[in-house]
Amino acid sequence: MAEDQELKWGRSTVDTACPLDCPDACSLEVTVENGKVLSIDGSHTHDATNGYICAKVRRFPERLYGDARIPHPLIRTGGRNGAFEKATWDDALGLIASRMVSIRDEWGAEAILPFSYGGSNGLLSQDTTDARLFRQFGTSRLARNVCAIPTSTANQALYGKMPGVTYQDYRYARLIIVWGANPSSSGIHLVPHIKAAQDAGAALVVVDPRRTNLAKQADVHLALKPGTDVVVALALHRFLFEQGLADQEFLAEHAHGADRLRERAAEWTIDRAATIAGLDPELLHNVAEMYADISPAVIRCGWGLERNRNGGNAALAVLALPTVAGKFGVRGGGYSMSNTGAWTHTPDDWIGVPEPDTRLVNMNHLGRALLDYDDPPVRMLFVYNCNPAVTMPNQNRVLKGLAREDLFTVVFDQVMTDTAALADVVLPATTFLESYDIVQSYGLSTMQLAKPAIDAVGDARSNVEVFADLARRLGLADSDDHATDVEVLLEVTGSMPADVAGTLMDAGIVTDPAGGAPVQFVDVTPRTPDGKVHLFPTALEPQTPSGLYRYQPDPATEEYPLSLISPATEKTINSSLGELRRGAASLHMHPDDAEPRGLSTGDHVRMFNGLGEVHCPLTLNPDMRPGTVGLPKGLWRMSTLNGYTANALVSDELTDIGGGAVFNDARVEVARVMTVAFDADTLSEMASEPGEPVH
Ligand code: SF4
Repeated sequence: MAEDQELKWGRSTVDTACPLDCPDACSLEVTVENGKVLSIDGSHTHDATNGYICAKVRRFPERLYGDARIPHPLIRTGGRNGAFEKATWDDALGLIASRMVSIRDEWGAEAILPFSYGGSNGLLSQDTTDARLFRQFGTSRLARNVCAIPTSTANQALYGKMPGVTYQDYRYARLIIVWGANPSSSGIHLVPHIKAAQDAGAALVVVDPRRTNLAKQADVHLALKPGTDVVVALALHRFLFEQGLADQEFLAEHAHGADRLRERAAEWTIDRAATIAGLDPELLHNVAEMYADISPAVIRCGWGLERNRNGGNAALAVLALPTVAGKFGVRGGGYSMSNTGAWTHTPDDWIGVPEPDTRLVNMNHLGRALLDYDDPPVRMLFVYNCNPAVTMPNQNRVLKGLAREDLFTVVFDQVMTDTAALADVVLPATTFLESYDIVQSYGLSTMQLAKPAIDAVGDARSNVEVFADLARRLGLADSDDHATDVEVLLEVTGSMPADVAGTLMDAGIVTDPAGGAPVQFVDVTPRTPDGKVHLFPTALEPQTPSGLYRYQPDPATEEYPLSLISPATEKTINSSLGELRRGAASLHMHPDDAEPRGLSTGDHVRMFNGLGEVHCPLTLNPDMRPGTVGLPKGLWRMSTLNGYTANALVSDELTDIGGGAVFNDARVEVARVMTVAFDADTLSEMASEPGEPVH
């Protein structure tokens, strides 16, 4: 028996890493028995993982071997409502290649829209052979703006994405402000460090419309109205400047634009900001005093604050606070955001083909692109690492576009998603347990090698290999182009500094060049051209119609008075693993909002606005902020009672900075449809969301 054959039988463990869209990038220990994954748990390769992982990835074998897994390529026959038939890879890729050519010949290559996001954040599963193929072919380009773009634009403009305070250093902080993040659901490995800091006497402030588990353990919870983070942060700036508590010495030495920020903050007294944000002014005043007085102080800036019309300005105002208050220069002081700026390599180092100047489509405008664009119209949509039928704003518009008879849709995915169910060709993709990848954390400071634990399930193939195969069929590949996972892995690592690549390949894990736990303004400084903090980044003004540090009022109306938020939960990573949910997800509402509407827990309700409606069970939840209702992020169509998710109620307008999605600007009304007896799975869902488990 060959040695590799022997390994398939019996039990073994494989060290690998999690590439899902989560800041923690855990190191994993996968137990394999007789060629099948038995279990997945955290390993100790990565200190931050510390031997434990989230419940959702422990369930990953259910995705690997579940009913939703796509076993082989499928081709739809008989038009939009026809059935899928099993196909070979040769048939499926041959059909796709011939449609790409015929569409290019008739409409131009920009009539093809590749569409991908963070189904995997691995460096190999996106922006390797796929980007090379689409760039060479001259398709439309995609602005992947559904998440993180306002915060990332703000971080870039202020600090040039200076690496942030790492989880392990939270224990040195005496004040921690968690703003627009819920680490009990996303980025769970921060929680023990916050607890350790609290045990050592640190104060905790949580800024979130919901009373999350972390908010319940905080010294102060600012349960602000969605979309008002910017005025709360500006009130803190005004307090610091007006009380003489701004660090003028630090500002003079390290920053530009403090005067213009001070001018814009001047109108935001504590009282005025508290009124707009629906907060007790005394609580806000307390937080202002705490932030001025206590050091080291760290702000964990999350992504919840960006998902509204004021999201970019909110991120600017929050991230500017440590500069104005002079909180840098000590361990445990400063801010944490995405750490992607810590690495020197970018995909352009290995794609090897310059980006063409073709049409750029903001992914938040998918519905518009499919229905309205005509120069040229989108005739082919190629979806991978993404499930836009449920994840993009204005879901009704997206679904209408996907239903077009003249649209040719390819979906390349691991499981039969809601988007795949609407496709013309479905291709089976490997998961991170079946192929190589490189996992670069955006919350921490490491990069890890992800190794396959098992052979591909069914006919699944990796992203790298499928796009390389397609390029060959289109005559775009040279014989020396890299086409296998291992070849592309070596190509990508070959673009990195030799010491980084060497450690990654030898040890399986490497720490970023900033050293893993940098003290901001000691070990790392702003990566802006002049090395200073740009508190009033004028380059952003032209793309900010409302102006920098400006507030746009709440879009609520008498007809639609309730704010809808769709927070992450412990069940999915964005929409990944949504197929494993059982029962209908419920809408959570504060009892004070339910009472005048005559609603009770267990009602089947319709939540609606001018864009659409969603039917779901209702749960009364005193942890919701009055005036704000919550339905989980990442739902698939089967998880509501009418097949629409929260995104059916979200407009495809864009954020003030960066062109991001305004998920939390949905304003809605809720009414009872009927009172029904829900099944046990749904009752269990109702009891568990949108709160978080204690890990
Ligand atoms: S999703 Fe996050 S917490 Fe869960 S295993 Fe992956 S990196 Fe770790």
